[in-house]
Amino acid sequence: MAYKIDSNKCIGCHTCMGVCPAMAIVDGEGGKCKIDKTKCMGCGTCAAVCPVNAIEPDLQ
Ligand code: SF4
Ligand code: SF4
Repeated sequence: MAYKIDSNKCIGCHTCMGVCPAMAIVDGEGGKCKIDKTKCMGCGTCAAVCPVNAIEPDLQ
């Protein structure tokens, strides 16, 4: 399962990008981050470090 970033919550701190072991987090619009679902392996590390809880499992 991949994870996703809620762009309405993301504050663009880029903390998640630095901890992703799969290099799946990339720059998105407005200085925020987004997750490349084709690379995400669902480890949840990014969700654990996000200061505003903007990252959740993508259940779709
Ligand atoms: S869940 Fe893991 S692999 Fe997926 S984006 Fe977050 S840190 Fe990277
Ligand atoms: S750690 Fe959270 S707030 Fe910071 S860039 Fe990633 S998703 Fe956005």
